[in-house]
Order: sequence, then C-alpha cells, then structure tokens
Amino acid sequence: MLLQFPAANNSEVDLKTTYDAVIVGSGAGGGMAAHVLTAHGLRVLLLEAGRSQDTGKILHSMEWPYDHPRRGNMPPEYHALTNEYTIRKSPYAQNSPYKNVQSYVQSWGGTDYTKTLVVNEKEHPYTGTRYAWVRARAVGGKTNIWGRLALRLSDYDFKAKDRDGFGENWPISYADIEPYYDKVDLYLGVSGHPENLPYLPDSKFQRPVKLNYAEMHLRETLKGMGRVLTPYRAGVTTDGLKHNKYRSRCYGRGACGRHVGGCDIHAAFDSPTGLIRPAMDTGNLTLRTNATVYEVTVDKNTGKATGVSFLDSETRKSYQAKGKTVLLAASTLESARLLLLSKSSAHPNGAGNSSGHVGHNFCEHVMGPSVAGFMKDLVGKPRTLDDGRPGGFYVPRFRNLNKRSGFLRGYGFEGGSGTEMIPGPASTTPGFGEEYKKHVRDYAGATISMGAFGEVLARYENYVGIDPHVKDTFGIPVLRFSYQFGENERKMAADMAVAAREMFEAAKFEVVSSSDEMLPEGWSIHELGTVRMGNDPKTSVVNQFQQSHDVKNLLVVDGSTHVSASCQNPTWTIMALCWRSCDHLAELLKKGEV
Ligand SMILES: Cc1cc2nc3c(=O)[nH]c(=O)nc-3n(C[C@H](O)[C@H](O)[C@H](O)COP(=O)(O)OP(=O)(O)OC[C@H]3O[C@@H](n4cnc5c(N)ncnc54)[C@H](O)[C@@H]3O)c2cc1C
Ligand code: SF4
Repeated sequence: MLLQFPAANNSEVDLKTTYDAVIVGSGAGGGMAAHVLTAHGLRVLLLEAGRSQDTGKILHSMEWPYDHPRRGNMPPEYHALTNEYTIRKSPYAQNSPYKNVQSYVQSWGGTDYTKTLVVNEKEHPYTGTRYAWVRARAVGGKTNIWGRLALRLSDYDFKAKDRDGFGENWPISYADIEPYYDKVDLYLGVSGHPENLPYLPDSKFQRPVKLNYAEMHLRETLKGMGRVLTPYRAGVTTDGLKHNKYRSRCYGRGACGRHVGGCDIHAAFDSPTGLIRPAMDTGNLTLRTNATVYEVTVDKNTGKATGVSFLDSETRKSYQAKGKTVLLAASTLESARLLLLSKSSAHPNGAGNSSGHVGHNFCEHVMGPSVAGFMKDLVGKPRTLDDGRPGGFYVPRFRNLNKRSGFLRGYGFEGGSGTEMIPGPASTTPGFGEEYKKHVRDYAGATISMGAFGEVLARYENYVGIDPHVKDTFGIPVLRFSYQFGENERKMAADMAVAAREMFEAAKFEVVSSSDEMLPEGWSIHELGTVRMGNDPKTSVVNQFQQSHDVKNLLVVDGSTHVSASCQNPTWTIMALCWRSCDHLAELLKKGEV
C-alpha cells in the first residue's frame, strides 16, 4: 500500500530562523539538494513557487479514455500552444481568447490530468526570439511529468573540446562524477541493459524493459552497422526500492505513453516521492509551497548571500527567508532569471555575474528528424502487449566518435514499436467501415518509429536576459530570449534524417513517413547552460562544485551549470552533480568555511 501525503503546512515555516540552507525550487535539482543536505543533518528550508499536489491521486494512470468525460482532454477554456510558436511573436498567450493557455506538451493525450502541474502562459509570459518553453509549477517541477530516459554523460562530453576544439571542457571528468551517478542509480532506481560503451557509460541497472520482436530485429541490424540499440534506460524502479516506502516497483501497466508523463504509483522517479518526502522524514526539512522567490538577498558589506525574498503565490504578500547558504534550483532559465534580478551595490550586474556570463552559453537538444514504418512480418499477426513498459529503445550516438562528420558532436534516437492502447494506424489509415478496421488491426502491432535528440552547441551569443518592459502576474520582470539554432544544428538535423531512414531501410522496414524538419527551439525540454561551471571566473559563473565564483555561499544546482548539452538527456546528470556539490557544501559548512 502506497502512502499518500498531505500538502505542506505552510504555517510551520519559521522565517526568523537562519537555516543552514535555503533551496529555491523542488524539481530534480532542488529535491536532490534537500535529500543530501538533510541527510548530512543540516536544517533546510525548501521554497517552491507551486502547490503541493498528490500525483498519486491526480494522474489516474489507469483510467481508460472512455471513463473520462472528455477522453482525458482539458476543458474548453484551456488551450495548448502548438503552431503559435512559429506563426506568432512571443508572448504567445497574449490576446488569446482562452482563460488558461499552456505549453505545447499539453496538446498530447490525457492532458486533463496534468493541467494543474504546468504554468498558465497568460500569467507567465516571456519575450524575444522563438522558444517553446515548458514549465511546471508544482512541488516536484517537471519531474512529475518527465519522460524518464535516464542517461549518463562520458568524457566524450566532459572533454569534448579536447576532441574537436569547440567551446569549453567541463572542469570535471567522468571519474569525478561516476561515484555520484552510482549513488543516484541506487537511491532512485534505473532500469537498463549493460552495453559497455565508452561514450554512454552503463548505470547500476535494475531489470531492463523487454525489447519486442521488431526492436530486437533492429538491434541485430544495427550491430552489422557498428551501431547499438539498447532497451530504454528508464529512471524507473523495476525491482523496487526497499528504502523508499513512497514508491512502488513498476507493474508494467502500459500507462506511460498515454499521458504527458508521470506515474501514479511513483515507479517512475519523481522528486516529491523519490527525494522530498524521505527528506521530510529526517525532521530536518521545512517545505514552503506557494513561495515565488524574486531575489537573492546579499549583505552589502561582504557581498555574501543572506537569504532570499519571496512572494506568497496566493496572497502575494512579501517575505524574507534567511540562510547561511542559498541554493538555486529553479530550473535552467528561472535560476538565470533570479541571478539577473538580484542586482545590488555589491553585485551591480546581478548576483554572481561579474563575468557577464549569466544567461549566456544557453544550449539544449535539437529534435524533429524522425522515421516511422512497419515491420512487414508482423502485419496481420496476433497483437502483443507492447506498451506494458516504461519505454521502448534508445540508439546511442554514433557520429563523431572516431571519424569526423561534416558537423560537430552527436545525436541519439528514442523509439518504440508495437501495439499501443490507441493503435497508431487508427489516425493515419484512410477510409472507414470493415476494411478500415481490419487494416488498423492488422498493422497495429507492426509499427515502429524513432526520433532524434542532438547536441546544440553552447554559444555565448545564445542567451536570455531580463525584459524590463514586461512583467509576470506577480510584477516580476520576465525573460527575453535571444536564442536560435545555427548552421551546425541544421547540418546535424539533415544527417539525422538520412541516418534514420538508412537504419530502417537496412532493417527492411517499410518506411511510411520520415521528416528532416527541426522542431522549434525549446521543444526538447532540455534547456541547459546559462550559469556555466568552469575554473576561470572571467568566463564561467560557478566552480566545479556549482558554487558561485563571486558569492561563495551561493550555489546553483540545476542544468544551468552544464558546460555543454551533449546529446544525452540531462536529468540524471543534474542530480549526480547536485549530490556531489551538496556533499562538498556540507563539508564546508562543518568546517565553517562558507
Ligand atoms: C514532458 C517532459 C519529458 C521529459 N523527458 C525527459 C527525459 O526523458 N529525460 C530527461 O533527462 N529529462 C526529461 N525531461 C526534463 C526534466 O524534467 C528536467 O531536466 C528536470 O526536471 C530539470 O530539473 P530542475 O530541477 O532543473 O527543474 P524543474 O524540474 O522544472 O524544477 C524547478 C522547480 O523550481 C520551481 N521554481 C521556478 N521558479 C521559482 C521561483 N522563482 N521561486 C520558487 N520556485 C521556483 C518550479 O515551480 C519547479 O518546481 C522532460 C521534461 C518534460 C516536461
Ligand atoms: S509502466 Fe511502470 S513506470 Fe510506467 S506508468 Fe506503468 S507502472 Fe509507472
């Protein structure tokens, strides 16, 4: 029996106390910081702009569409942005007739269950160049709905500059972070199959998801091409976690693909049940929800952080929280925004921004190129239960490992095959009646598709800054984007499309569609950079322990500190880095060195 948990009791928050650490944001980074620091016996205040919501109750992962009044869709006064990113200028929700406008992820299936977890774009606008920004405002942030692909980076990523001369190396190597990846794996659970690849290190895997017939066939074909297809490395506990009473093991119920994401029994990692709830059980954590932080406060004489100022998201009253240290984990773009907003006489360009690099070197993943087809041997065969698992497969990077291509860095593919609850051919098959139904049934189990995620180069000229003319619903100045894909991303996307087709053709799949179109900037939901780490305070914002070069008791523990995007999904790395930094911070606090 899983335990449900109540909303945080905000009245318990004592704002007279100087906490050992004040953490801003409760997603992957903030949740991990809370776990590690409370485990060290430190007294921690966690401030989260959103509400506490029990996803065990709201996600309804097992509800059939016909059991829902709108088949899982949002009410008519809600709208999800789709082509507005391309045909309109930001702020995209401005002048919209809908009461509540949400980002593009809310155009997928089952979005009625997730509509309270993400922001209303009307209340939280942003300006500048095209960007599809997905934001969750709730305890747990985007981990409540993430896609769960949990990958490690390697020295092919950390030392990429040594290989191709572009950008900067990270100030750490794989050996520095490997023990922390291990800790994250063992504490949270990750499923997968070892492949022994130097460019995609194996994790401490629990039981892998099973590849089905078409996927096994593609795996064998790719072996012949010197490429790898491995079962989806899911941040999901498939064997269970004895040390965590808030999470169940994965029953393989096949519900993952039906909604935007999330798992109502928390087999898939989410920060509230994986990290925050256990941290609260130590007695060292105070969670304050509805707390929108708008400034890091500093001592004007020493320049050190003294805490943060925040607004109650409901009453809009302003408060101050005091901490010996402050850790920002509001997500890549929101943490940069907070640093830039925190101008003072000690830090006239914003806290920690003497280098002028805050907001810059912004990077992410480019996606769009994809391929879909049928495995002809399976047409008309009895259907199998293929979506009873938290993911399909992953094809790791194969470009620029040993041989140079016409572009820098690499890309990987996420894909899947087989029968789903709502069969893919139902929407693409023309016609109606008996013939239509037979075609849909015959082809339902034979589908296979995959799409690419590629590294966007971190460039200084891609950045976010504060727009002094536009404010959010709380009166806080918003972000203005100056960010776009460049020539390398265009060349890479063209190669992704060719490579995708080539692999399906080699497997003798019937290709029914393929695309070489790049989706708008932001679509990958893997925004990174903006507060990059490095050894040189002139060209980086934080050191290898995510500690501000300028403000020693200020840390930034989310994806903003990544030096380059690599092509692997970032969340496991965000948490491993954060664990390492918080262990270091606890040492400094014990020695009185911060
Ligand atoms: C649909 C979807 C699929 C994804 N799939 C994958 C995947 O397969 N693999 C992968 O690695 N990653 C995936 N991601 C990305 C992953 O969710 C993020 O990398 C991760 O959640 C980032 O953690 P974070 O702590 O930086 O930010 P978040 O999880 O967004 O948490 C930030 C928190 O800070 C709070 N906050 C923001 N501003 C303030 C403020 N001013 N004051 C107080 N609190 C504030 C927010 O409310 C939020 O709770 C996916 C994301 C989505 C939405
Ligand atoms: S397949 Fe597993 S991880 Fe996915 S929703 Fe079901 S139980 Fe959760």
